[in-house]
Amino acid sequence: MVAMLCSRVSLSGMQAAKRLIILWVMWAASLSAQSAQPSTSQPDVFLVTIDTIRADHVHCYGYGPIQTPALDGLAKDGVLFAQAFTPSPITNASHTSILTGLLPSTHGVTDFAVRLASTFPVWADLLKKQGYHTGAFIGSVILDSQNFAPGLDRGFDFYDNFPKVAQNKSRWGRLERRGRDVAQHAETWLNTHPAGPHFAWVHFYDPHDPYDPPPPYSQIYKDRLYDGEIVYADSALADFLAYLKKKGWYENSIVIVVGDHGEGLGEHHEETHGIFLYDSTMHVPLIIKFRGQRQAGRVVEAQVRTTDILPTVIELLKISPPKRLDGESLIPYLALAGTPETTGRTVFGETDYPMRFGWAPLRSVRGEGFKFIEAPRPEFYDLRSDPRELTNNYAPWDETVQKFRALLSDLRSKMPPRPTSAGAVSTSTIDELKALGYLGRADAGSSTNVPEPSLLPDPKDKIEEQNLLHKAMIATEDGRSSEARAVLEKVLELDPKTPTALRQLGELELHAGDYAKAAEHLKHAREIRPDDAMAAFYEGQALNGEGDLAGAREALEASLKLTSKQFPARLLLGQVYLGLKDTKAAEDQFEAALLMQPQNEEARLWLARTQMASGTFAEALRQLEPLTKSQPDNAEIFELLAQGYSGLGKKAEAERAEGRARTLRKNRQP
Ligand SMILES: [Zn+2]
Repeated sequence: MVAMLCSRVSLSGMQAAKRLIILWVMWAASLSAQSAQPSTSQPDVFLVTIDTIRADHVHCYGYGPIQTPALDGLAKDGVLFAQAFTPSPITNASHTSILTGLLPSTHGVTDFAVRLASTFPVWADLLKKQGYHTGAFIGSVILDSQNFAPGLDRGFDFYDNFPKVAQNKSRWGRLERRGRDVAQHAETWLNTHPAGPHFAWVHFYDPHDPYDPPPPYSQIYKDRLYDGEIVYADSALADFLAYLKKKGWYENSIVIVVGDHGEGLGEHHEETHGIFLYDSTMHVPLIIKFRGQRQAGRVVEAQVRTTDILPTVIELLKISPPKRLDGESLIPYLALAGTPETTGRTVFGETDYPMRFGWAPLRSVRGEGFKFIEAPRPEFYDLRSDPRELTNNYAPWDETVQKFRALLSDLRSKMPPRPTSAGAVSTSTIDELKALGYLGRADAGSSTNVPEPSLLPDPKDKIEEQNLLHKAMIATEDGRSSEARAVLEKVLELDPKTPTALRQLGELELHAGDYAKAAEHLKHAREIRPDDAMAAFYEGQALNGEGDLAGAREALEASLKLTSKQFPARLLLGQVYLGLKDTKAAEDQFEAALLMQPQNEEARLWLARTQMASGTFAEALRQLEPLTKSQPDNAEIFELLAQGYSGLGKKAEAERAEGRARTLRKNRQP
């Protein structure tokens, strides 16, 4: 073709030659344009979730005093959904809804550490079956699939969990990762899987409290640190989008950015999130950039939901949808063919988090300019005249109220029965939960068995308490124990019978070594809430610290009766029994502990000590044998070994073990 063109050039004049060159350039360009057209292969899909981001704190959502260039740029290339809502103000429930297209009541992950049942299809699994490489990059241990988010890793080839054993006590790397680090992890993984298609989920946790943006954001936004965190998260998004562009993947990919929930920032007296269902925590940014920047710059004003995202992706990728989806595709809102849909969708909201404090759970319906909140004292807002939800217009006979209430009961009737398996979390996990500012309970899940939630206190009457409790948890995590103590005492001034504050205070004194004070607070906490397994465990520790072994036994037994799978409580109860010279009962506890953690050497050593005390030398030697190999420098093990051998009359072995113990002790001396 090129040769033919050249021969024509030689035959024609200069003008014709020019025209032909232009034609040739156009033809060549059309060829290369064809190759750059979106191929028929599946596009990459990138889901970025930003934690705790209020829609009205983002520049492209109309918030002037902030710079969010990455979000703004993505909105220019894609579609901005101005009215998008999460069904839950809690991270795990909300993310599970994004990843399944289901409401929390459907998928059942309404609390931390509740396993996502394998019967619900998930985003990553659906795409993996289409040949996608799938990777998840989380910014907080709260979404770690090894403890707080079991089952959320289904379908991911790689799920970037936190190290099981933290390398340091710092917040970073143990509880949280900065957004830029998360983006870096995702980019490293994508580099090792250059051939697509990819589905990567990237989670930026930064705007979650405590607000601690790195410089220069800590300086620029020093009076508005929450905004500073959003700007930092935006910079992490910028980093990730720049990477996609550099790789040449951006153009042909679907990029979704969505918030998991907002932040109270003091509205309705809620400082953070989780308790209420007001727009401050339920309205989130949602931006979708489609393949080839289709519909670039479009703004959809209709009310939509984060459960609608997965159904949209399913439609775009033309994959067959799961049997149940609570959301619906957002494609009808785009002007692809014909008139776009403008009617908003009914938004359901729910939170069970108040139940962790012993308060009523909440449910809400938002639509047609109104919001109804089901609570012990119900609420009804006319959002058209009262967008900040300040004037409660609830009247039981109001027709709209009745209509909204009917929507809730209709939804309830369609919900699958609640999963009975509650999330059982370990003690160390509970500590992490508290470090993140969430209330932990060893008996997580028992809260969901409340017979009549409307009889519980209304969270509206308790929100100040919750703010203070949250503040105390963060202060404790940061080692500011006197501040935590003062805050908790303030809670008790508001209501001296707040079991959570009593328990927290008891725990604080326990760690400070004031066992008498700790025992007093914890006893009080248990009188108010006898089903609190955690308070009973702490009381057992405090009484043991005081030397009240009989009291400790009672408290620990009560705790284990409420929640039997508590390894540390078993281990301590065994020691208490040994102290009480009840070797039989002590042995039972250590054996039960070993059933839970067969590799635990501490439990094994305690069992050996007990068997030695009861004179069952052969059994004790059986426990000690493996320990001599795993802890060859532990003098006590060889001393016990010597005692065991001499108990069995094996003089030579006893002397050998005694000799080894002596050497070890001598080496240990400085
Ligand atoms: Zn969250």
